[in-house]
Amino acid sequence: MSAILIDGKARAAALRAEVAQGVAGFVATHGRAPGLTVVLVGDDPASAVYVGSKGKATREAGMISGEYRLPADTPEADLLALVAKLNTDPAVDGILVQMPLPRHIDSDRVIAAIDPAKDVDGLHPVNTGLLVSGRKGLVPCTPSGCLLLIKESMGDIAGAEAVVIGRSILVGKPMAALLTNASATVTLAHSRTRDLAAHIARADIVVAAVGIPGMVKGEWIKPGACVIDVGINRIALDGGKSRLVGDVDFDSAAARAGWITPVPGGVGPMTIACLLANTLAAARARAGA
Ligand code: NAP
Repeated sequence: MSAILIDGKARAAALRAEVAQGVAGFVATHGRAPGLTVVLVGDDPASAVYVGSKGKATREAGMISGEYRLPADTPEADLLALVAKLNTDPAVDGILVQMPLPRHIDSDRVIAAIDPAKDVDGLHPVNTGLLVSGRKGLVPCTPSGCLLLIKESMGDIAGAEAVVIGRSILVGKPMAALLTNASATVTLAHSRTRDLAAHIARADIVVAAVGIPGMVKGEWIKPGACVIDVGINRIALDGGKSRLVGDVDFDSAAARAGWITPVPGGVGPMTIACLLANTLAAARARAGA
């Protein structure tokens, strides 16, 4: 391996410590801690784990963690009523409705009902619009974390060629907007892209957010590129065991890249750290600070 391994855990711990310091300052000035409330509908085990770790991280940063766990058959109207209540609760600075929602609930309608000033997931159309316009708003946590890792590795990325693979509203599209705002030249690839390898071959930055284990091959990578692997895929091993792998074929890519994130321990830890940072930013903005 010739690439420098990007330590997302260490970078996330540093960001969380920075947020905790900011929270202490906020409490000293405003006499209250910022509050993040997470809403989980249904009993998806993975979502329950995410919600649990978000609550723990929120408390560790010195913020108030609120949690609602609603049954899977909760009517959409009840969820919208809860969001409306949280929108007007002065102690709540951030609202996160855990996705995916049960199929009878229209997630776009729920996201649109969240006060954009409290939308710490950065998915409300107002925040999406602000991001695309290059204006200040709440930015989705995973791409935010990726950009921090990229900038810390490469410094100024103005003029760099970037390829983002995956065009979801959660990761790929906001990632492309963030890189564009940082003056990179961005190609946004997806399942209909022709000759993905040719695009990746000229990329100084590759961000893979697809959900297909090892689909980005090492021989496609431009020597010295910064490779950010967002994918989280669980693959079965012999003996009933399993392990997590990313969208990048790690060993072959690490032999050519300049920097690379591992899975796990790369992008994943940054997501929660950026959620905490967004909550503090939302609290400061609401307090006019
Ligand atoms: P998603 O909504 O399923 O989007 C996947 C994207 O990949 C789509 O845009 C799709 O293209 C594209 N794609 C599929 N097959 C492709 C191919 N053969 N070549 C090029 N592009 C292809 O997924 P997501 O929510 O963005 O998540 C992507 C991955 O990141 C998943 O593994 C997820 O678990 C992981 N993730 C990790 C974190 C974290 O904190 N680390 C956070 C969020 C997501 P089309 O649009 O054409 O269908």
